[in-house]
Amino acid sequence: MQSVPVTKSPHTFAEFTTQKAARIYRIPMLAFPNFWVYAYLVFVDEMIVLIDTGSGFGDCTACLEEGFERIRSIEGLASVMDNLDYILITHGHIDHFGGLPYLAEKTDAKVGVHELDLRNLTNYEERILVSERRLREFLLEAGVESEKLEEIIRVYLVNKMLSKSVPVDFTYNAINMQLGRFEFLHVPGHSAGHVVIRLDDYLFCGDHVLNGISPHQWPERLTLNMGLGHYLSSLDKLERWADDDIALTFSGHNEVIENLSSRITQIKGIHAKRLERTLDILSEPGTVAEVSSQLFGEVGGYDVLLSIEETGAHVEYLYQRGLLGISNIGEIEQGSVPLLYQRLNDPVAEQMRVCC
Ligand SMILES: [Zn+2]
Ligand SMILES: [Zn+2]
Repeated sequence: MQSVPVTKSPHTFAEFTTQKAARIYRIPMLAFPNFWVYAYLVFVDEMIVLIDTGSGFGDCTACLEEGFERIRSIEGLASVMDNLDYILITHGHIDHFGGLPYLAEKTDAKVGVHELDLRNLTNYEERILVSERRLREFLLEAGVESEKLEEIIRVYLVNKMLSKSVPVDFTYNAINMQLGRFEFLHVPGHSAGHVVIRLDDYLFCGDHVLNGISPHQWPERLTLNMGLGHYLSSLDKLERWADDDIALTFSGHNEVIENLSSRITQIKGIHAKRLERTLDILSEPGTVAEVSSQLFGEVGGYDVLLSIEETGAHVEYLYQRGLLGISNIGEIEQGSVPLLYQRLNDPVAEQMRVCC
């Protein structure tokens, strides 16, 4: 059951009540300039639980504190911080866990994350180093010219340097994917350890399913258990929870999803179309960078990285399944780095075709 939201416009504070009377407050936060994220504060069975923390960057933590103050007064508490029992992280991306260093100083709340994203939180500096190395290799093979590559890495590092390692208290498998009335479903793809969290008739899905935009995809070669193949399987997995018993699904960045099943179908459709288009483009040999500029046009700033990663995820998906081959093997043997992909038209590979 849903109580009446304060307002339905995007990026607003709102309150909800589950069928079994758990109270949920949605707190809007400016994670980065022009980029909003939500945290959710949940009151259930005498527990106070925060789902995601925002980025910790700029005014983000001030937005969280403002939300806490509003909830403190609604709930008649002396302090939210002092009474916070758990912080549950949907996935190890900075816009969802970057507020943890601040919260760790202010609260005694126990922090949980899925084990496949554990190192993003606890070994952050090492993770950046390894990610930069893998990203560099990927961009070289993708055919990104060196000046642009260095600019992409620079922008990547500026964003990633904003957080630091934080301790974690437990992982979700260690508690059998259940905490009181919360249940966890592992949905790898957008991140390796992404989870969807169920509470009564509500779901918290982080970035696994979003309204209005398809969640960003990375090639799995950057991090195992990411990648489009895992992501699409995880959408199938979530579909089993997307039944009539689910009243609403909360996302990390935009408005509540009222019909999860149909949103999942739409997102699968977006990827099916993008895969088809990638195959069409690669009727002629091309690099990931060339496919990317055909798929997404000329983009600037952080979008350069996002579009090439998204394209890389689609090319990788098709290559893994034998629908693409590499057409410049001879040159690669001679030391050339960019890979030229080309559609194979292999009748066996074509049997599976694209996901949906
Ligand atoms: Zn994310
Ligand atoms: Zn996010």
